[in-house]
Amino acid sequence: MIFKSAKIEAFRTWGLLLTMLGMGLMVLGTAGIVFFGSAGKILAGIGLVIGLIAMMGSLAIYFWAGMMSVSAVQIECPECNKLTKMLGKTDRCMFCKTIMTLDPSQANITAEQLEAQKSTS
Ligand SMILES: [Zn+2]
Repeated sequence: MIFKSAKIEAFRTWGLLLTMLGMGLMVLGTAGIVFFGSAGKILAGIGLVIGLIAMMGSLAIYFWAGMMSVSAVQIECPECNKLTKMLGKTDRCMFCKTIMTLDPSQANITAEQLEAQKSTS
């Protein structure tokens, strides 16, 4: 991800960006009629269609993010002791952006902690 944020937050950011883009295109398209008259109608049509697709896309991303946040594992962050949600094996804390992992081979923990993790899971 480009942003240093938790995966769910990143999806929300992209969803918001797409919504803004879609709304912007719709406004621009409508403004096209005002500024260019009849010629702007084609522009407005294209703007409205792309805007609508972008907004539907953002809706899909929001829905997807919602579905994933349901299946996400809720854990207490070892850094800031706040409850955060993890997607997949590795994700960042929503609050302090610490990278966390559920994969013991990726975590830089001691052998003792690794053994304790194996026995509990
Ligand atoms: Zn944290």
